Amino acid sequence: MVRETPNARDVLPAGKVTVEPRKDVAVIARPARAGRGPQHRRVPLAEAAEEYLSAGWSVTPGAYWNPQSRTYRCGRPHCDLKGPHPVDATAPGRCRPEAGVRAAHPAQVTGWWHAHGYAVMMPTGALSATVLAGPPEVIDVLAGHLEASGHPAPVLAYPSGEHQLFSAPLVIDEALWLGTAVGRIVLHGAGSWVTLPPSTVSAGRLAWLRPPWETGWRLPPSAEVLAALRTTARRDDAEA
Ligand SMILES: [Zn+2]
Repeated sequence: MVRETPNARDVLPAGKVTVEPRKDVAVIARPARAGRGPQHRRVPLAEAAEEYLSAGWSVTPGAYWNPQSRTYRCGRPHCDLKGPHPVDATAPGRCRPEAGVRAAHPAQVTGWWHAHGYAVMMPTGALSATVLAGPPEVIDVLAGHLEASGHPAPVLAYPSGEHQLFSAPLVIDEALWLGTAVGRIVLHGAGSWVTLPPSTVSAGRLAWLRPPWETGWRLPPSAEVLAALRTTARRDDAEA
C-alpha cells in the first residue's frame, strides 16, 4: 500500500483534475504520402517510430494485427504467438513474449518497418519508462494531479478503454505493486512493453490523449508520480 506522508500534496477537488481528451492529435506521423502503393500504411508507423527514437524514446517492432486472420503476425515463420508481442529476431523459433525486449537502433528502423507494418512498441523499465495502465477514471485523476503539480505526463487511450500514463522509471517494490493493484493499476516495468500510437490492435487504433510532444517529451519524475499515487489513494480512502 502506498502510504500517506505528511508532506504529500493536498487533495484536489474531484472534477477539477480530469484530462481533456484530444482525439484529433492521435496521429504522431504525418499523412501517408501519395504514390507509395500498398506500402503506404507502413509509412505513418515508420515515421512514428523514427520520431519516438529521435526524441530519445525506446521503440521496438511489435506483431501487427491482421484483420483477415484475426491474429497478430510478426513475420517470423516459426513464431506461433497469436497475441501482441515484441518481435524478437534473436530468439530461435518463436519470439519470447516478455523477456529479452530490446530497443531498436535508429539504423534498424527503416529496415524493420519497410518489411512489415509492425506495431510500434516501447520496452519499459529502467532505461525507458514505467507505464501505469488502468481504468480511465483512475489514470485521469492521477494525470490531473501531475498536471496540477507542473509535471504533466503523456497519456494514451487504448481502444478497449484502458488509459496508460507514462512515468519516469519507478522502483517497483512489493508496496508499490500492492498499492497500485488496489486502484486497479497495472505497472509495466522491467521485462515488459507497451504499444504506442498510431499502432492498431484488435479493438482499433491507439491514440494519445496527452501527446508526449506536449510535455516536451519529458516524463514526470518518479517522486512526483509516487506523490500523486498517494494523493489518489488518500482520496479513495476518504470516499470509501
Ligand atoms: Zn513472433
